[in-house]
Amino acid sequence: MQELLERKKGLHRKVLIVDDEFIEREMLGAMLSDLYEVIYAEDGELALDMIRKNKLTLSLVILDLHMPKLDGYSLLQLIRSDSELRRIPIIVLTSEKEAEVKSLQLGASDFITKPYDAPDVIRARVSRSIELAEDSIIIHETERDSLTGLFNKEFFLEYGKRLDNQNDNMPMDAIVLDINRFHIVNELYGREYGDMILKRIGDFIHELVRQTGGLACRSGSNSFGIYLPHIAELKDELSKYTEKIDHIMGDRKISVRMGIYFDDGNVSDMEQRFDCARLACRKLRNSYSTCYDIYNAELHSRELHSERLINDMDKALDERQFKVYFQPKYNIKGDKPKLTSAEALVRWVHPEFGMISPGEFISLFENNGLIHKLDRYVWSEAAAQIKRWKDKYGLFIPVSVNVSRVDIFDPLLGDTLCEITATNGLAPENLLLEITESAYTDDSQQIVDTVSLLRDRGFKIEMDDFGCGYSSLNMLTSLPIDALKLDMKFIRTITSNKKDYELVRIMTEIARLIEVPVIAEGVETKEQMELLKAIDCDVIQGYYFSKPVPAEDFEKLIEEHIKEDNHAYC
Ligand code: C2E
Ligand code: CA
Ligand code: CA
Repeated sequence: MQELLERKKGLHRKVLIVDDEFIEREMLGAMLSDLYEVIYAEDGELALDMIRKNKLTLSLVILDLHMPKLDGYSLLQLIRSDSELRRIPIIVLTSEKEAEVKSLQLGASDFITKPYDAPDVIRARVSRSIELAEDSIIIHETERDSLTGLFNKEFFLEYGKRLDNQNDNMPMDAIVLDINRFHIVNELYGREYGDMILKRIGDFIHELVRQTGGLACRSGSNSFGIYLPHIAELKDELSKYTEKIDHIMGDRKISVRMGIYFDDGNVSDMEQRFDCARLACRKLRNSYSTCYDIYNAELHSRELHSERLINDMDKALDERQFKVYFQPKYNIKGDKPKLTSAEALVRWVHPEFGMISPGEFISLFENNGLIHKLDRYVWSEAAAQIKRWKDKYGLFIPVSVNVSRVDIFDPLLGDTLCEITATNGLAPENLLLEITESAYTDDSQQIVDTVSLLRDRGFKIEMDDFGCGYSSLNMLTSLPIDALKLDMKFIRTITSNKKDYELVRIMTEIARLIEVPVIAEGVETKEQMELLKAIDCDVIQGYYFSKPVPAEDFEKLIEEHIKEDNHAYC
């Protein structure tokens, strides 16, 4: 570019005069040599050779049409079809009217008629052709990425919007294509290899837009934008494209991801279409193979909702929007069920969305570490409640809290729990800890170590959702646990599905074998309760007795039992 700008200022411009007649060559040369560096060729073949050698510095070719060996028309065609030479403007020398039209059609930028006009006219034509060509190159270079030849982002958006306006907002699809872990490609194989990959992708995209009549750009170092008239079949063709890209990339395990917005008429602005495609692309960020995802409005609004919850979490903790509910657990071993403990279950009373159940935010918070804060809050609330009930009723009602699988990896877990119980004047055994079975199978050694330490400090552990994970019998016998809590899904069908009934029975036997009590949760009906009682289940939790309720409501259950004087707590 710099070189071009300097040439534009009049420096280093080189003009090639191609004519088999010595006199003609000399005459023209004399008219131009004070302004340009003039070089000469006396036939087409020699000229082609010189053009190739001087392709970077040549500003213009003045070409006679009638020459031996390679004539002017053929040379003109050759230059125009060669992508490296195409930029060089050509003025043809002719004495016939038809030849003027034909050579202009073949891509000549101007013509000079023989016999020659006044030198001033010729000099003006030469200078104008060079200037026009240089201007168009400058425009081309400012609009395009030099490596791939695709538009740069600004011009892409500009032309895309123009296309939309001119075509009365015809449906357009937007694709965002990113190369996965491109910085690693550069680091591992070097910049040159990285550039080669970018060029290959660029060529693929050029080909795609040539076929579909769209536009494309390189929008970032490893990122491309493609804007195409909507084609319904594109959806079916996508896997072919990913295969093709894999092929282009060679076998070095370099892959791309594509986020696609298919025009469904809901978004009419080009930039918004690309926002949608970018969102779809972002979701594939950690993929290792070439793949694509299609933007889905519903999914997007769900993601926005999740993001909103994550953003609101800290404030919600400060403002105590999280409420701990308590669901009673009843011991059913005797004649009458006895209130034995409770499970603390969190709810979020969001100022805008109302009551949100933990199913909506727990796994979200587990994915980004926020769960530590929330669980700590719930554990403290539960411990404080146990203390309040002790003060009010003179009883320690044990409450179980959920310990997320993420908490297991916190080296300070034991200290935190001890601090919470101590602050509230409780013994560790007053706060039961529920850990889901699948956490045991995630990283069994880590969990066995953590749970053993917690038990050494006096905490009691209930294995939650038992039957859902894949703990082997062998593993179960060596696990440090104090109760098995059967997964709800078996209870739901225990009265209608013989197989589930058998499973529950076997799980109860396993509990006997490892000498821990069995808790069944999700018990909703009398029938379920009686069946569980018949197979010797110890404790029951479920809507049959009560839904999870706020502490004040739970107190009614405590008072009922105190009145009947049949409370039993672990
Ligand atoms: P979970 O620990 O398995 O809790 C039992 C879930 O079953 C609770 O749902 C409870 O309300 C529900 N449930 C109890 N009895 C019945 C019944 O008879 N029928 C039906 N259909 N459902 C019943 P909830 O409160 O929506 O909690 C869902 C999950 O969220 C919990 O499953 C637990 O994994 C998690 N969770 C709740 N609170 C916390 C918390 O403070 N910390 C962590 N880490 N996770 C929590
Ligand atoms: Ca639980
Ligand atoms: Ca459970």
